[in-house]
Amino acid sequence: MLVMDGRAAPGRRSWNLRIGLTSRCNIRCRYCLPDGRQDVVVQPTLAELTAVLQAAHEVGIRRVHYTGGEPTVRRDFLAVLRAAQEIGFAQQIVTTNGYRLHRIIEEAIDSGLTRAIVSLDTLDETQNKFLTRAKFLKDTIQSVERAVALLPTLTKISSVTMRSTLKELPKFVRWAADLNSRGQAGRLAIKLNQFFPSNPAQLSGEGEEFWKTEFASEEMILEALSSVGELKPIERTSVEGDNPSYNYYEIGDTGVMVAVLAMFSWGYPCGGCHKLRISPQGLATVCIGQQDPPVIWGMNYEEKLATFKRLTDYRESDQFEKDFRDRVHYRAQLGELRFDSVVGPEKDIVEFRDILARHQEERGRAAVAADGVSEQ
Ligand code: SF4
Repeated sequence: MLVMDGRAAPGRRSWNLRIGLTSRCNIRCRYCLPDGRQDVVVQPTLAELTAVLQAAHEVGIRRVHYTGGEPTVRRDFLAVLRAAQEIGFAQQIVTTNGYRLHRIIEEAIDSGLTRAIVSLDTLDETQNKFLTRAKFLKDTIQSVERAVALLPTLTKISSVTMRSTLKELPKFVRWAADLNSRGQAGRLAIKLNQFFPSNPAQLSGEGEEFWKTEFASEEMILEALSSVGELKPIERTSVEGDNPSYNYYEIGDTGVMVAVLAMFSWGYPCGGCHKLRISPQGLATVCIGQQDPPVIWGMNYEEKLATFKRLTDYRESDQFEKDFRDRVHYRAQLGELRFDSVVGPEKDIVEFRDILARHQEERGRAAVAADGVSEQ
């Protein structure tokens, strides 16, 4: 039987702690980071992390989600899990590109890991190499399969859905159906994230070009999915896990759950999350729209605790609703909360909408011109 999340202490709303363990990533996905060396890598010490975990636990949070960069590049990743386990976290989740997870998964589970979300956009080796500028598709696949085999929870593939990968959706669903039919500890679900722009890569000309060419609308995603089977909507509350904004479907008679998050098409609605986010450089936020977040690293334990209490109480208050009444789940430079300060001009939502509209007009004109030529 699958284990559902027991996220919060009694009397406490379902708060999650989401920590970026490092700004370092061992790959350079085209839609995420620009190619080349990451000049600055920031990551907290194990002692800082332990204090943050302790303070978050003291304010009632029982679920921690590790992100990065790539969290498993930390040599002491297992020690972080053990620290959270000793403190008493009921749920420990990692989002990973899967290059290392399969090698350490038994120890990770012994150390308290309860769930894995593995980023994987394509099952095609050539396309994978192109998108990630790396070569470890086999490792990623192995990590997904080991997670489903060993973790009695819902492992998820997290996929950035692009025009060029839509045709692979049936393959993803068949793979999940096959794994789910083996009677193993867990099951596999698929999360499809619309390719929306807010990563460091889109601040470069090359990255912007890539985004507008590869962007797929919600209609395109749903159409590609429905080629596998009827899309049967599932109650959001019946699925364990993360972002409250996803629309979940069961696909035909495969039994496979697929989540669609089309934030760009939807205008980045607030999903009402209750997440205390700590970036690799220690910025603590309760909403990604928050300006001038406090820096947690370097504070003593009492200061950390007081900051977490202040932030989580603020998120629960009417004042937060007043201050962030028109909030959207968009930050022009989201990369600064995930990697480090991002060099390049901010681009707001409107600007990206205009870029896409111009691109689609050009595409339409080019298609009409091509039709004209073929009719001659
Ligand atoms: S807008 Fe803020 S509160 Fe709403 S889902 Fe995003 S981060 Fe959470």
